[in-house]
Amino acid sequence: MSIAENLKNIKATLPAHVTLVAVSKTKPNSAIQEAYDAGQRIFGENKIQEMAQKWEVLPKDIQWHMIGHVQRNKVKYMAEFVQLIHGVDSLRLLKEIDKQAKKYNRIIDCLLQMHIAEEDTKFGLDENELHQLLTSDAFTELKNVKIVGLMGMATFTDDQNQIKREFAQLKTIYDALKEKISDVKILSMGMSGDYKIAIEEGSTMVRIGSSIFGKRTLH
Ligand SMILES: *Cc1c(COP(=O)(O)O)cnc(C)c1O
Repeated sequence: MSIAENLKNIKATLPAHVTLVAVSKTKPNSAIQEAYDAGQRIFGENKIQEMAQKWEVLPKDIQWHMIGHVQRNKVKYMAEFVQLIHGVDSLRLLKEIDKQAKKYNRIIDCLLQMHIAEEDTKFGLDENELHQLLTSDAFTELKNVKIVGLMGMATFTDDQNQIKREFAQLKTIYDALKEKISDVKILSMGMSGDYKIAIEEGSTMVRIGSSIFGKRTLH
């Protein structure tokens, strides 16, 4: 099936309140252009320099999301254009995003990444760290970043109940945060293998790659 057909089929299953991020990491510009021509405007990448290269040559009305782990020394390469950074998991990183955003007179929207999986290989904050970050003086001083929600990845497992539990746990944290911060409106959870469960558990944004573009051969 073509990229356009895959997109159409997936979009048909998404409720209206769920935003689709087409994860185009490792895929060539021609594949992104094909999705663009089929109407897709939001794309997710996990390497900052790869995303910057694509931003330079592809249509300027594409909204680029950084979904991967962010290295602080590379934030400067995306500060001019990135629409949403999903994987923010420290105050140090937020400070750097704030500093780089200021240079372009922008306020960059960010999601805080929560650790919900059992695996300890996945990045993210626990509830305690989330609370500490949001209540710190250093955080309240940042004027060029805005926390608009949370992101999380479930354990890579066939156990549907476990995935469901982990997403439900993230939704609970998200609901509590929403009560406190009015800008919070995005819950980014769900990938090709688990987005249906994620939506059942309250996701508002899914990050789908291989089901649209086909399997990846690299990372
Ligand atoms: C690669 C990636 C995705 C998309 O994964 P698929 O299984 O190809 O849909 C989603 N989120 C993050 C953080 C990723 O790195």
